[in-house]
Amino acid sequence: MRVPLIAGNWKMNKTVSEAVAFAQELKCLAPFPGVEVLICPPYPALAPVAEVLAGTEIALGAQNVHWEDAGAYTGEVSPPMLKAAGCRYVIIGHSERRQYFGETDEIIQRKLKAAFRHGLIPILCVGENLEVRERGGTFDLIARQLEGALSGISEEEIGELVIAYEPVWAIGTGRNARPEDAQEVNYFIRDWLARRYSPEKAGSWRIQYGGSVTPDNAAELLAQPDIDGALVGGASLKVESFAAIIRAA
Ligand code: 13P
Repeated sequence: MRVPLIAGNWKMNKTVSEAVAFAQELKCLAPFPGVEVLICPPYPALAPVAEVLAGTEIALGAQNVHWEDAGAYTGEVSPPMLKAAGCRYVIIGHSERRQYFGETDEIIQRKLKAAFRHGLIPILCVGENLEVRERGGTFDLIARQLEGALSGISEEEIGELVIAYEPVWAIGTGRNARPEDAQEVNYFIRDWLARRYSPEKAGSWRIQYGGSVTPDNAAELLAQPDIDGALVGGASLKVESFAAIIRAA
């Protein structure tokens, strides 16, 4: 059985002291039976938050990573650095990185390979924008994104993989996908993975939904058979709302 993964993607929010205070508060509410909880703070807060979370089951993740181990890449952070800072997960290919920082499927593929090589669990984000959804191109686009990101990556290379289906039109808009629509896409993703890899692996990997998840809509979304957790933006910034989403899982 897949354990749901409730992840907070803080994006470019919270200073080190704000992040540490959040982690301390969240830790007081743990454990969270039957759910895996993950927070993804900005880079400067990773190590201090790892210290707070040490000895708990709350996992730590980064929001991005470079594909090289070290070198002349000003402003970048490598997989070994994330591991050393205490990260277990890394978000790769978020739509904001694709949109504002020009990340292509090829870049995302390199980052995925680097994450697997270093034992970081990637959360690969895929999702269509409104124009694609309205012209009925969602499944084609998701298949293209999966193919591009996972091209040349073998089943043996992949330890654990998480996919987050995040329709771009639902991110930060207050307009979440209808649970049945998200379920349909998540099922499509699982089926794609089963054909590309194996039904066993596809059945064990978690596929999250992200996009305007709140305490009000979380239970209905998470009740869908192929929605194995949530990647939460805005509602993960306050302990109260994040904890309410965790409890809904
Ligand atoms: P919101 O929950 O703010 O819509 O953000 C979703 C997201 O992009 C998480 O990665």
